Amino acid sequence: MGYMCRPEVNGRNGGVKKFFGYSTFRPYQKEIIEKILEGRDCLVVMATGSGKSLCYQVPPLVAKKTAVVISPLLSLMQDQVMALRQRGIKAEHLSSAQTDSSVQRNAESGQFNILYMTPEKACSISTSFWSNLLNMGICLLAVDEAHCISEWGHDFRVEYKQLGNLRNILTNVPFVGLTATATEKVRIDITDSLKMRDPYVTIGSFDRNNLFYGVKSFKRSSSFVDELVGEVSKCVANAGSTIIYCTTVKDVEQIFKSLLEAGIKAGIYHGQMNNKAREESHRFSAFAIDVSEIALVVAFNEINVLLKSFIRDESDVMVATIAFGMGIDKPNIRYVIHYGCPKSLESYYQESGRCGRDGNCDNCTTSRNESDMSREAFLLMACMRACGGNWGLGMPVDVLRGSRSKKILDAQVRQSSHFMGLGELSANWWKALGYQLISHGYLTETIRDVFKFVCVSPKGMQFLSSSKPDHQPPLVLPVTDELSG
Ligand code: ADP
Repeated sequence: MGYMCRPEVNGRNGGVKKFFGYSTFRPYQKEIIEKILEGRDCLVVMATGSGKSLCYQVPPLVAKKTAVVISPLLSLMQDQVMALRQRGIKAEHLSSAQTDSSVQRNAESGQFNILYMTPEKACSISTSFWSNLLNMGICLLAVDEAHCISEWGHDFRVEYKQLGNLRNILTNVPFVGLTATATEKVRIDITDSLKMRDPYVTIGSFDRNNLFYGVKSFKRSSSFVDELVGEVSKCVANAGSTIIYCTTVKDVEQIFKSLLEAGIKAGIYHGQMNNKAREESHRFSAFAIDVSEIALVVAFNEINVLLKSFIRDESDVMVATIAFGMGIDKPNIRYVIHYGCPKSLESYYQESGRCGRDGNCDNCTTSRNESDMSREAFLLMACMRACGGNWGLGMPVDVLRGSRSKKILDAQVRQSSHFMGLGELSANWWKALGYQLISHGYLTETIRDVFKFVCVSPKGMQFLSSSKPDHQPPLVLPVTDELSG
C-alpha cells in the first residue's frame, strides 16, 4: 500500500500547521508518519510528552481515511475527541457504554478522521463493521499504551492481548503500537501479539530533562501523615496539580481524609471503587436485565466525575493507587509524590513521568536554592577515608558528630581534630549531604549481600586531592529541605 502525498512541515498536506498549529515536527514524528503512510507497521517507544499522538493523528488527514485508535480509558478518549474536534478534526469514540447507535453507523461509513475505541469494543464489534470500514478506507490501527499487551508490562490488560485477532480482518492496514515504556521483552511481546510484519521501530530518548527527582525522608510516627499533608499544602500553594501514589487502598483513604480535613481540594481513585459502585447498583436493581453492564456504566460515570474534576483543575490533588493515571493526559501536573515504593523502576518512570507533560517545569525554572558546601563535603569525604571504607554513611556521620560509641572505638577510627565541633549538625543533615554527594558522583554506593557501603569515588578523590584542610575548591549543591534545616 502506498500514498503519493507526503506530510509537509508547513504545507497543506499534513495539516500539521493548519490543524495543530505546529510549525515543526518533533524528533521522530515525521519519519514515523511517513512509514505509516507507506503502509508499514510501527512500534513507537517514546517518552511521555514527546508527541506520540501526532504520529497517528496526521496520517488520516493526509490519506483522507479513518484512523482507528485503541485507547484504554473512556474519559481519556472523550477528552481527546473533544480536543480534536476543537481543532476541526472529525473525531468520535466507540465503547460499550456508547448508547447512540448512529455513531457506529457513521463510523463504518467512514465519516470520521479519527475513531477511538476501547479494546473491549474493538474485539467484540461485528466483522461486518470492520469490512464496511475497510471498504471506506482505514489508514491505520493504533494501539495506544501498547505495553498493556504484555504480561511483562506493568499495566497488563487481558483485552489488549486479543487485539492481534484483528490482524486477520485488517490484513493490509498498518498497525502502530505506541508506549512510553517498554523493555526489550515487552517490545517483542507487542510486535508478536499484534502480528506485526517487519515493523519500523523507534526508540526515543527517555531523559525527561524537565523533571527533578528528589527523596524526602519522614520518620514513621503518628504525625507521619500530617507531615505529608504539610508537604502537599506547600506543593499546592506553589504550583497546583499533584498526584500522590500510595501502595494500599487504606493509605489512599487515610491521606484523602487528612487532605480534606486540612481544607485541600482532593480527589480519590483506586481499583476497588469499581466494585463499590457495582455493589451500589446491584442494591438498586430489581429487574432481570444485564445488571453488570449497567453497573459498569455507573462505575465509569462515577470515576469520570472524579477524573474530570482533577483534569479540569477543579481539585488540586489526586490521591490514588497506581490504578489511576494510565493515559492521563493532564499537561500541568507539577508534583508526583510516591508515598511508598513503586513496583519497579519501570513503574516509577511511568508514574513520575505524568509530571510536566507540557514541557515549561515550574519547579526547575524557579531557581532552587544552592549553596557552596565544599567544607562540609570535604569533612565528610575525608572522614569516610579515615574510616577506611567498608561502612555505610552511618559510621562516618557518627564520627563527625563526635560519637565515642563502642563501635567507633573498636574500629579505632582516627578522630582527627578537623572533625571536632561538628556535632551541632544532625545525623540526618549529614546523611542528606551524603546522598547529595552520591547523586553528584563524589561518593559511590554499593550493595554487598544486604549491606550498603559508601566510598569516595574517583571524582571525590580528585576533589580531596585539590583540597587543603582550611581551603577547598567550591562544591555547590542544591539546598534540599533536609539540608536547610
Ligand atoms: P505523548 O502521547 O507522547 O505523551 P502527546 O502526543 O500528548 O505526547 O504530546 C504532548 C504535547 O506535545 C501535547 O501538548 C502536544 O500538543 C504537543 N506536541 C506534539 N507534537 C508537537 C509538535 N510537533 N510541536 C509542538 N508541540 C507538539
